[in-house]
Amino acid sequence: MKFSISWLKYLKQFRGEKILSQALRMFRLHSIPFSTLLGNMFNVMELHQAKFTFPIVASVASKNLGLTREILRRGHEVAVHGFKHVNYAYITERQQDDDVGKALDTFKALGIQVYGFRAPYNVYTEDTPKLVEKYGFLWDIGIGYNPKYRSGTSPFRVQIDDHESSFVCIPLNRLSDDFMIDIQGFSSRQMETKLKHVIKGASEKGGVFMFDLHPIRMGQPKYVNVLNSVVEYGTALNGWFPTVTEAVNYWSKHGKWKHDAPFCCLLTGDIDNFSFFDYIQRLF
Ligand SMILES: [Zn+2]
Repeated sequence: MKFSISWLKYLKQFRGEKILSQALRMFRLHSIPFSTLLGNMFNVMELHQAKFTFPIVASVASKNLGLTREILRRGHEVAVHGFKHVNYAYITERQQDDDVGKALDTFKALGIQVYGFRAPYNVYTEDTPKLVEKYGFLWDIGIGYNPKYRSGTSPFRVQIDDHESSFVCIPLNRLSDDFMIDIQGFSSRQMETKLKHVIKGASEKGGVFMFDLHPIRMGQPKYVNVLNSVVEYGTALNGWFPTVTEAVNYWSKHGKWKHDAPFCCLLTGDIDNFSFFDYIQRLF
C-alpha cells in the first residue's frame, strides 16, 4: 500500500492530473482481487450457459498464469492483446511485429492456444492487419471498432494490398464499459437499458453483435448484475452467446448461427492488468 501511494505521488508530479485520476480509479477498482471479479462473471455466464472471450496482454498473462488458466478451465477463451499494452500508433511496424510475435511465443510457451487478436486501445495502423494475417490469426476483434465498421451486423474481411484478409473481423459496438461508466457517467440502470436496447435491435435485425466489457469493471458486484440482466434478456430472445472462435468457426462453415439463433452476441473483455501493480508497471 505504501509503495502504491508513493507511485501515485510520483505520477502526479511527473505525469499530471489526468493520469493521476486514472491511476486512482484503477487503484479503487483493483481493491477487489481479480480472482473475485472473474469468479463473479463466470458464475453469471454459467447461469445462462454463455461464454466470454478475454484478450489478455501476454506479459501480464505469464505473470498471472493461475488466473489465465482458470479462464480456460471455466470454458471461456483467451486471445492476444499484445505483449505489452502499447499504442501501436506510436511504434514502428518492426516494433509492432516484435510485440505480436513475442505475445504469441509467450502463449505458446505457456501451452495456451490462441486464435484471435485485439490491438491494445483498439488502435491499428496500416501495417497492423498485415501482421494479424502474417501470424495466422483466425480472427481480429479490434478493427471492427473503426466507425466505418462499428454498426455492421456481419462478420467481414478487410482488404490487404490486393486481397481480402485471411482472418475474419467482427463489428465492435461503441458501448464499452469504460465508455458508459468513465466517459458517459451512466448509472448501472442506464447501462442495462442501453445494452438491452442493442440486444433487442439485434434480435430484430439478426447478425452478430460484440461488446467490450472489461472484467475490471464488469466483475464488480454493482456491474455484474447488469451483465446478468443483459445475458438473461438475450438468452430469453434466443440469442447465442459463444466464444469468438466458436462463432467464427460455425459461421464460416454454416453461414448462420447455432440452433438457428436469430442473432449471435459476443461478449469480450480485455485484461490489461490483473492487479494494480501490473497497472503501475505499465506506466513506466
Ligand atoms: Zn486494453
